[in-house]
Amino acid sequence: MIKAPKGTYDVLPNISHAWRKIEDAEREVARLAGYREIRTPVFEHTELFLRGVGDTTDIVQKEMYTFKDKGDRSITLKPEGTAGVVRAMLESGLNQGVMPLKVYYLSSPIFRYEAPQSGRMREHHQFGVEAFGARQPTLDAEVISIPLDVLTKLGLSDFALNINSIGCPKCRPHYHERLREYLTQRKDKLCATCNDRLLRNPLRILDCKSDECQAELKDAPVMLDFLCDECAAHFAGLKDALDAIGVSYAVNPRIVRGLDYYTKTVFEIIISADEGKLTVCGGGRYDELVSELGGQPTPAIGFGMGIERLLMLLQRQNKSPEAEPICDVFVATLTPESRLEAVRYVSALRALGVKADMDHVGRSLKAQFKFADKVGAGYVLILGGDEAAQGEAVLRNLTAHTEDRVALEGLAQTVAETILAKR
Ligand code: ATP
Ligand code: MG
Repeated sequence: MIKAPKGTYDVLPNISHAWRKIEDAEREVARLAGYREIRTPVFEHTELFLRGVGDTTDIVQKEMYTFKDKGDRSITLKPEGTAGVVRAMLESGLNQGVMPLKVYYLSSPIFRYEAPQSGRMREHHQFGVEAFGARQPTLDAEVISIPLDVLTKLGLSDFALNINSIGCPKCRPHYHERLREYLTQRKDKLCATCNDRLLRNPLRILDCKSDECQAELKDAPVMLDFLCDECAAHFAGLKDALDAIGVSYAVNPRIVRGLDYYTKTVFEIIISADEGKLTVCGGGRYDELVSELGGQPTPAIGFGMGIERLLMLLQRQNKSPEAEPICDVFVATLTPESRLEAVRYVSALRALGVKADMDHVGRSLKAQFKFADKVGAGYVLILGGDEAAQGEAVLRNLTAHTEDRVALEGLAQTVAETILAKR
């Protein structure tokens, strides 16, 4: 037996309805805020992610699925959603249209070579939005409110929004210097990866998951004390806008995010759970990325939200949606001669918006009833009985345990009306 590769899993029919519910909520929230859907390829040229994610990040250093295709090109499976969207925007000239340009993607597959564990897969899926061409912090607040609205719409609670500002290329270097000084004195206590980060990108150390490194960071200087006037005003503006829409938040100076090109606003939405904290969503402003990828300097902000983590939360908080029954009415046949008639009625009922089905394996009438029950049908329509001689069929209501005779003339219409009236 061939098994699925480690860190991947299947979305089976018994859970796919929950995906649809999540996607419906995401689509609706994004639509109301004026975002339109974008879909980009699952793979891109590796170069895009080297430049668009940053070569000091965990993603580029250890997590990418990179391979040579048969034409000897270096290809990488999408390890995050933003770079592909920026590439598509520049390539299509969408950035020359009306700004801000606001797009979203649904359940985009994301590939990262990670150690698989609960809530961490090698293929996962993200909902995300990207908004280009506006610097005002009101847009940051809008983008942040989208995942929060999705969580609320799904009936989830107990989530916390953490925000921070990591400055811009003007003010961050001063902070880098001070942070590097502080950490160099504690070098021996930092993990090997952080020693490497110390040279290449000290900010990244704040994001280290090792407890020892986190302990050393207790009194580390924070970026918020180093913001230039522009960044400080932007951060104050963000807080005002969040206050204005009644979104509560905590300022958390430890949040830096995993990508290199973030500027100013960064944020995470965290849910506390028995098993510890779980981050469902992370994002931020990336005013430097578009020019880094060869476009005109264009401010931008976005986020990515993990669908699998949302599913975990729905389960933990007992908010998993119920699956709807597979079938409304099962058209049972008494005689082989009535099978063709059944085919016709099933087709007519479906055209009228009713979930109708029939037997395709030659079951006895008793077995057809059992099957109807298994697929959750509320009704069974019985064709070919003695009533047929009087031009009638029987409609049995499996919930109320009642039975009605229905004229064959206009049968599909009558049955559809009965069922749709019950909805
Ligand atoms: P972490 O610090 O947990 O590794 P990250 O910073 O790598 O997270 P992002 O790149 O911000 O995560 O991805 C956005 C969201 O995608 C995360 O908040 C999370 O919900 C989800 N996510 C990230 N990696 C995985 C994964 N390997 N498996 C499942 N979901 C993931
Ligand atoms: Mg990660």
